[in-house]
Amino acid sequence: MPNFFALIPAAGSGSRMEQSLPKQYLSLHEKPMIFHSLNVLCHNQLISKVIVVLAPEDKHWFAYDWSEFNDKLLVFTCGGATRADSVRNGLLAAKQDNLVSTQDWILVHDAARPCLTTTQLNQLLHELAEDETGGLLAVPVADTLKRANSENRVTATESREHLWQAQTPQMFRYEILLQALQNTANKLITDDASAVELMGLSPKLIMSDAQNFKVTYPQDLALAELILQNRKTHD
Ligand code: C5P
Repeated sequence: MPNFFALIPAAGSGSRMEQSLPKQYLSLHEKPMIFHSLNVLCHNQLISKVIVVLAPEDKHWFAYDWSEFNDKLLVFTCGGATRADSVRNGLLAAKQDNLVSTQDWILVHDAARPCLTTTQLNQLLHELAEDETGGLLAVPVADTLKRANSENRVTATESREHLWQAQTPQMFRYEILLQALQNTANKLITDDASAVELMGLSPKLIMSDAQNFKVTYPQDLALAELILQNRKTHD
């Protein structure tokens, strides 16, 4: 039986947040942002270990107390210049430590998606556990899509039929994911699934919801805070 591992690339600087603290550490619901994803992933019974990939120079991580996650949490300080580099380096480090085998499942999740729920995670695990290729959480595009020129003038309205917004976790077998990321080492890719697609495979889209959005701009933090607050009130 394959094992399940989560891997959180957390080596970004979050420059679009306009803050000196990397965004995974910004305070959200009284915790650093990354805590909320760790909480969901570390408490999932199916997941054996949760690997966090930090930038080698990261000093912030060690200022917090992560002891509640015990030995379920592993930290590698091998983040790279891009998200894909950080994921690839994390995969290689896990292999070096004899932690994973080729058929194990890896769930890559952005540190900046703090509103992932246990229900969404279980849906992904349940729907893909027997799948040959793997897949990702995603939502169908809801807004009308405009193509623009360099002056922000609309040049076309695009059909949104069959278009989805990719989220994370994205779940692939270790061997496929590592191969995909090694093949695309010099290409600009923004998620793991696109690297897998370039191998000719078709990842499966698992219906998620818009609350699992990526905190990117300063105003996103307030929305994430509201979502988490609302959940606590209704727990
Ligand atoms: O910057 P962006 O929001 O696309 O980052 C998505 C995820 O990738 C974040 O969790 C971020 O910390 C991570 N990342 C990384 N290494 C980089 C750049 C981003 O681990 N060099």
